[in-house]
Order: sequence, then structure tokens, then C-alpha cells
Amino acid sequence: MQHASVASLLAGLRAGEFSSEEITCDYLSRISEHEGQLNAFITLTSEQALEQARAADQQRAAGQAGALAGIPLVHKDIFCTSGTRTSCGSRMLDNFVPPYDATVVSRLRQAGVVMLGKTNMDEFAMGSSTESSYYGATRNPWDTESVPGGSSGGSAVVVAAGFAPAATGTDTGGSIRQPAALCGISGIKPTYGRVSRLGMVAFASSLDQAGPLARTAQDCALLLSAMAGYDPADSTSAQRDAEDFSAGLEQAISGLKIGIPAEYFSAGLDSGIAAVIQTSLKEFAQRGAILVDISLPHTALSVPAYYVIAPAEASTNLSRYDGVRYGYRCEDPADLHDLYTRTREEGFGAEVKRRILVGTYALSAGYYDAYYRKAQQIRRLIQQDFVQAFTDVDVIMGPTTPHPAWKLGAKSNDPVAMYLEDIYTLGINLAGLPAMSVPAGFCSGMPVGLQLIGNYFAESKLLNIAHQYQQWTDWHQRTPTLPAAA
Ligand code: GLN
Repeated sequence: MQHASVASLLAGLRAGEFSSEEITCDYLSRISEHEGQLNAFITLTSEQALEQARAADQQRAAGQAGALAGIPLVHKDIFCTSGTRTSCGSRMLDNFVPPYDATVVSRLRQAGVVMLGKTNMDEFAMGSSTESSYYGATRNPWDTESVPGGSSGGSAVVVAAGFAPAATGTDTGGSIRQPAALCGISGIKPTYGRVSRLGMVAFASSLDQAGPLARTAQDCALLLSAMAGYDPADSTSAQRDAEDFSAGLEQAISGLKIGIPAEYFSAGLDSGIAAVIQTSLKEFAQRGAILVDISLPHTALSVPAYYVIAPAEASTNLSRYDGVRYGYRCEDPADLHDLYTRTREEGFGAEVKRRILVGTYALSAGYYDAYYRKAQQIRRLIQQDFVQAFTDVDVIMGPTTPHPAWKLGAKSNDPVAMYLEDIYTLGINLAGLPAMSVPAGFCSGMPVGLQLIGNYFAESKLLNIAHQYQQWTDWHQRTPTLPAAA
């Protein structure tokens, strides 16, 4: 039951095989047994969950069930939840209880989901390992001495560990795809603008995008259909009609042109991961897809460009945390200046401070042209690489990450080593494209993710291809054995 898909749970709920209250109780008891080993949650909302489950059961009995009625789900703690603390993994927001729901949260609630809690994450979504959280590191259920990836590590662990069938996450430079890859689950980062950012705590506004994490591509399609769509309250929301992302899942993939970027297989890629990805690509070819060698020549520049642009935007977004408006405030400030400096000194962790410093520097009058403007020019070149590639191919494939999950602490004191782990994901955010990661095998006993990159608004195509892949593979059905509870 714990590893059941959203689709199969919906079928069971519809057929009356079990109630939402029953499955919610099952997940909550599994969480209470194993959460101590994994630290996937910042806040558990068990009582509310049971109330929501009972309400969903009543709605179903009355014939008024929404598309996801009764499905347990968790939200990354970056999404504002009315009446429930939204910390963003930071001491700065440890006391913040939003007065409203993020659009993603309200849309999913309207569809009938049951929220089990809010998940752990890197502080303000800055990181690739979920170690920078004020609430301590989250552990990978495949090896509790390894990181789960980040920043949506808590959400990925919840699904991988069977604490819930689905989760929300956000992806600014890989934070849905990379933890999905490292935990052996599926996750999709939609086209920029596809999902509303209203009520999602801002990190880098031109890059941030929300999406679902789940066991299967089919489940991602179900969730994304409920999450996506134009939101007049978000000025960057794309004016597109709602779409049923489940509709095209069964289309055949023969004749599909798959671009294989040389830069995604160069030095720096773990040989075990390379072997797994090559095997998956061969399987696509055996089923009639056409593999095309392509080049994304500016890939290497995505790391420096991203790590100027994202901190620049973060430094302005995070200026609102001043001890005056909301969030943490230092004790007994001597004067206004002391209030600002000590609040920020005490409220932010080391990685967040590093980004604010880098971003403020890059935006300062004397350095703007040398860093920020240059990074924006590179961003355009990276985008053009993808636009050019999509004139010839339908989808681009490669690894999601260069390495499998590493041991806790192994990269914490080396920010550049951590940043380089994002080499295959950052360019997609800089270009604003949709991409997903699906489980494709194992390397040194840890899960490996295959990344599928689509053209703008081609989420349906990506989900279709991933779903087809999951018809002939069973990597998405593999589950970790959790150590017995202490
Ligand atoms: N790892 C990247 C960073 O640290 C991406 C994080 C994200 O997507 N939120 O910025």
C-alpha cells in the first residue's frame, strides 16, 4: 500500500476498496515509525489530514469528489499554507504562519488532496543536498548516510520512503529533478510560467517553478493537471488554458527524435551513470526512436551564469527579511541598524548569507556589467542552444546528475563542488524549458535519474515519453528497505 501510485489509490477510492481516512491513517503510522531516521518533515499536520480525509470521503459518497479527492500529499515548506507554518527551511521564517494559501496549494486542495505535512528543504531552496535546512539534514532512504539531493529533498524522500504517494516541489536550478533522481522517483519541472508562483516563497523569480514529485510519470500528469494553469494574480503566469496532461500518455514513441547532447556525457560524468543512461537510450532506439547527436555548446557556462543570476535575484528577494515586517526579529535591538543586522545575522544560515553577498556584489554599480549583464548574455546563448536543438529533435535526453547521492557532509564545506552537481539541470531553468527526471537504474546501489528535456510547453510530450518508458522498465517500482525503527 505505502508504495502504491496515485492512479491506483484513486481507482481503489473510486471502487470503495478503502477510504481516504484509512489510507491517511496508514501513511501517518508509517511516518511516525520511520520519520526519526529520515527527517523528511518540518511540520506534520496529522489532525488536519484526518479531517480533510473524512471530508474527502464524504464528498465522494455525495458524488462531489474532485479529481484527486482523498489522495494524501505533502507540500514543500516553501508553499504558503494558510494557518500552517511555512518556514522555507529557515530560522528567519520559523515563526511565520501565512494568512493565505499559495495558488498551488489551493488548486490541489480544490482537487481534494489531503495534506499530511510540510517537507524539509535547503534553506530558501538554496542547495543540492537538503543539508542547509535550519531543521537539520534529511537522509536518503536508500542509504541513510547519504544525502537525498535538494533542495526539495524532504518531498523526494517522502515519496521514496512511502510516507505519501505524491509531493510538491520547486525547481530553480534542479531542485525537483535532482532529488527525484537521487531518491529513485519521478519529478517534472514545468515550463517557466506554467504553474503559478503566487504564495511560493521567492528565491530567484525568473527561474523558480513548481512541479510534482511522484512514483510514476502517470502520477506526475495527474498532479500537474491540477496544479497548472493561468493565474491572474501572478504576472509571470503563462496565459494558457488548463490542460489534461494525462490525455496523451499512451501515444507511441516510434519515430521520436531524441537529441543526445555531447556535453552531457563528457568528463565529470560518473561512468556508472553513463552506462545506465546509455542502456536507456538503447532501449528507446530498439522501440523505434531515432537517436541524434547534438551539441549544447554553452552547457559549461550554465554553472557560472546561474550562480551569478540566482544569487543576484535572491539578494533582492531576501531584502524583505528585515525584522520589521514578518519573520524572525532579534532580541532587544539597540537601534534600527542593529535590528537589521542582527536579525539577518541570526536569522539566515551560511549558504544564504553567501548568496546574498555574491548577489549584492554582482549587482553593485561597479561590477554590474562585468558579472550580472555578462551572465544574462550567457543566459541568452544557453537558451539559443536549446532553441536550435529543438529545430531538429523532439526531446533531449541525458543524465539528471553527474553522480549518485553522496555521503552526508562530503560536499558541505566545498560550495563549488556542490554547485557543479547542478551542471545538467541549471541550463533548463536559464532557458525556461520543461524537463523531468525518471528512475533509470542504479549505480553503486543508489538510484540514477534519466533526464528528459522538452520544448516550451511540451510537458504532455515529456510525460508521454516517460510513461512509455515506464511501461517497459520497472525502475520506478523499486523501493528502498527502511532500517527497522529504533
Ligand atoms: N542547487 C541549486 C541551487 O543551489 C538549485 C536549487 C533549486 O533548484 N532550488 O541554487
